[in-house]
Amino acid sequence: MLKLWKKVTDQLSREVGEEEQLTWLRPLSARQEGDQLIVSAPNAHVERNVRKSYLERIATLAKAAQPTLGGVQLVVGSAEAEPVEVAAPALAAPGTTAMPKPPMVESRIDRRYSFENFVEGTSNRLAKASALQVATRAAFYNPLVMYGGTGLGKTHLLHAIGNHILKERPDARVLYVRSEDFYNGMVRALQQGQIEAFKSVYRTLETLLIDDVQFFAGKDRTQEEFFHTFNVLYDAKQQIVLTCDRYPKELDRLEQRLKSRFGWGLSVAVEPPDFETRTAILMQKAQEIGVAVPQSGAELIAQRMRTSASVRDLEGALYTLKARSNLVGATIDADFISETLRDQFSVAERQLSPGNIQKVTGEFYRIPLSDLLGKKRTRQIARARQVAMALCKTHTTMSLKDIGQSFGGRDHTTVLHACKVIEELRRTEASFVDEWDMLTRRLSV
Ligand code: ADP
Ligand code: MG
Repeated sequence: MLKLWKKVTDQLSREVGEEEQLTWLRPLSARQEGDQLIVSAPNAHVERNVRKSYLERIATLAKAAQPTLGGVQLVVGSAEAEPVEVAAPALAAPGTTAMPKPPMVESRIDRRYSFENFVEGTSNRLAKASALQVATRAAFYNPLVMYGGTGLGKTHLLHAIGNHILKERPDARVLYVRSEDFYNGMVRALQQGQIEAFKSVYRTLETLLIDDVQFFAGKDRTQEEFFHTFNVLYDAKQQIVLTCDRYPKELDRLEQRLKSRFGWGLSVAVEPPDFETRTAILMQKAQEIGVAVPQSGAELIAQRMRTSASVRDLEGALYTLKARSNLVGATIDADFISETLRDQFSVAERQLSPGNIQKVTGEFYRIPLSDLLGKKRTRQIARARQVAMALCKTHTTMSLKDIGQSFGGRDHTTVLHACKVIEELRRTEASFVDEWDMLTRRLSV
């Protein structure tokens, strides 16, 4: 660090509180150019605040420390910019521009995931549109929360936001982080006595993309730290985007104050893709992976694997096809697909027959099948029956009438009622969401 700058900040740190130090002074860096001290702020927001509250004091302190100093300039720009290697741009071939400055934070954005290769369908349209708006700053939702089951494209959209921003501005302070890594980073920083440095990285971001915040549940110290980080970014009007495997307000063991903050912006659900979207995703992924699957083949897979809702499973099927077709050198037609994916298809279908749903649900609630299908109407039995009906509705293509039939010949209005009750429960009771997810997992292993 520049000696002069160190003197200035040492003094200034004694004059202001810790919070101010971290938020406004720590992110600054400085270099000397001629008789000027150039102070860089990471973004316009920090720049404005420093100009307003500290710049005069900085100039006074700097001149006191180095009387020959001509002046102090505050700029937005890359930290610690080394005296620029003037030769580099000069050597660049005519017509090409100089290399962009390296990002100041390692963004951890995965280049493979973009908006361009994200297939849109009714199930994810809103999430994609909101993500794109945030990335282009066309609208400002803070925080943007994307929630939904695994393998549905939430992480993909986070990276897409990051990539979009970095394409426009390669030196943007964007960071993708999994909640787990936030936690691990925090623990490590605490152990090594570097918590201040840890904090300052997060608190000077322009866009924080944080994945799978359900991981914070029950981790109080992490929630506390994240709470403060959230506040600093939020107050500074920096963008926060987070994902969660369920509606965050339904997360157990998440502090109320975090829940309420997560609700300040926009929350959008990412749903499992429908048949058309599954087909489109398969076609696109097949091309990316480099496996020749005809449209009819993609439709066949989308149809037969309808019950396995996750896009990741669809991808898995394509890899399996690719591996086997390379091995035996066959073209990928309907027969080849049926044969190769026999296990995936039959697992999906066997697991999700009404019979199996009834069996798994009965076992889960410890209710004999005869009661589940019978006439008894105790609270516990009635609830289990409704859950099983709703599972049939969600995970099979059976009509309400057929579902009623398979539950001891009940009426379709009974099934409809059950589905509504369960839908309401899933919206309002976090503990029920856990039950539902657990059951769903049991059905699809
Ligand atoms: P999540 O974070 O919701 O669990 P991911 O974003 O990791 O899911 O998605 C799992 C895989 O499926 C990734 O490879 C992702 O690229 C792919 N995927 C999911 N949804 C889509 C989509 N709509 N279009 C293209 N690929 C998708
Ligand atoms: Mg994910």
